[in-house]
Amino acid sequence: MSLIVQKYGGSSVSNAAAIKRVAKRVAATQQQGHDVVVVVSAMGDTTDELLDLAGAITHEPSQRELDILLTAGERISMSLLAMAVANYGVQAQSFTGQQAGVITDAVYGRAQIIDVVPHRIRKALDAGNVAIVAGFQGVDPIANDVTTLGRGGSDTTAVAIAAGLGADVCEIYTDVDGVYTADPRIVPTAKKIERATYEEMLELAACGAKILALRSVEYGRRYGVPIHVRSSFSQSPGTYVSLSTQEDSVEAPIISGVAHDRSEAKITIVDVPDVPGTAADIFAAVAEVSANIDMIVQNVSAARPGLTDISFTLPEGDGKRTLSALRRIQGDVGFASFQYDDQIGKVSLVGAGMKSHPGVSARFFAALRDAGINVEMISTSEIRISVAVRADQLDDAVRAIHTAFDLDSHDGEATVYAGTGR
Ligand code: ADP
Ligand code: ASP
Ligand code: MG
Repeated sequence: MSLIVQKYGGSSVSNAAAIKRVAKRVAATQQQGHDVVVVVSAMGDTTDELLDLAGAITHEPSQRELDILLTAGERISMSLLAMAVANYGVQAQSFTGQQAGVITDAVYGRAQIIDVVPHRIRKALDAGNVAIVAGFQGVDPIANDVTTLGRGGSDTTAVAIAAGLGADVCEIYTDVDGVYTADPRIVPTAKKIERATYEEMLELAACGAKILALRSVEYGRRYGVPIHVRSSFSQSPGTYVSLSTQEDSVEAPIISGVAHDRSEAKITIVDVPDVPGTAADIFAAVAEVSANIDMIVQNVSAARPGLTDISFTLPEGDGKRTLSALRRIQGDVGFASFQYDDQIGKVSLVGAGMKSHPGVSARFFAALRDAGINVEMISTSEIRISVAVRADQLDDAVRAIHTAFDLDSHDGEATVYAGTGR
């Protein structure tokens, strides 16, 4: 007998029929003799719909109220799933993040889990229940307020609870058969990756592959939780994410995959005085509003001596408060103006083998050139090349790079079972 944590994403529980289907799978796992904890996301696109609703009320909703609103999505699915599991003759109890002992810091909207105290879950399991936990939420114990973990946060709940309970495996059920060499919605010929190390998966997730939330992979690596990403719509084995073995390092591919991110925006600060300290002033102001900076480029102007332009990318959600921060320091720092552009996308090529293979960059940029795609920003690390391109060329860029690195599968196309890709 083992302890299994199963997480079902929004597209796996998008309506009553889907919830019943998931319940059948959950009940069957318990009937095979396992202890089962289920973490569930909000139904379908509920979280986006709740955000739209808040947006129709006010442009700047209170972060506290927004978190209370959003946690409602996961509460709906947890209770419905508990009812559906009971229908199969298996006892089930649902718990909010707070009840499940998911303790976070006080940062509304993107709280970090600081501890998991799963006493009630243990008790529920010991009494023969399937325990069903609302994903994506926790509690800040100081204010006793509910918090959310950031988009895709149910993955993190699942891995954190698996770590807290010492589960044998954390299964992430979604609408595709595993982790692929690119998003199969964009590249139908992407290949399924059978095994990935935490490091490879971290890099893909950090570059925007939303199949697993970045923090869930960080958590998994820290506590050594084996993660199995698979489809709730099929019985196919998916992708195992775990520690690397000797064998892996011998067989490791040069490239693990191509990731993309549509959620970034670019800010360009024009005519910044080219003297020591201006970049420090700018990024101090940006840090004060907790914006998450990604790529940074500075171009010294040949035509306007003594002045430079600084561009950087950040998540769109951080855009408004960053622009306000820049407005506040504009006079003191003395730059001329700034521009905001949310019509960009980022595409990244990821692979640990890149550092020992010359010519990767040349091939990468040739693929973009041949597809007629202009590069706006570049950033690299030892195991990654990322570029910002126009948002409407992002899908073409992903396909061009995927093909250029011979990642296409020759045995058929990946199945996308459900979901809207929103
Ligand atoms: P869930 O609702 O189950 O949490 P998500 O929409 O958050 O599902 O994540 C699953 C989606 O991630 C897939 O439908 C796919 O479009 C997207 N995706 C992005 N990159 C990848 C990748 N490398 N492999 C598989 N899926 C990916
Ligand atoms: N419902 C939340 C979201 O849409 C959390 C999740 O699905 O993981 O981001
Ligand atoms: Mg998700």
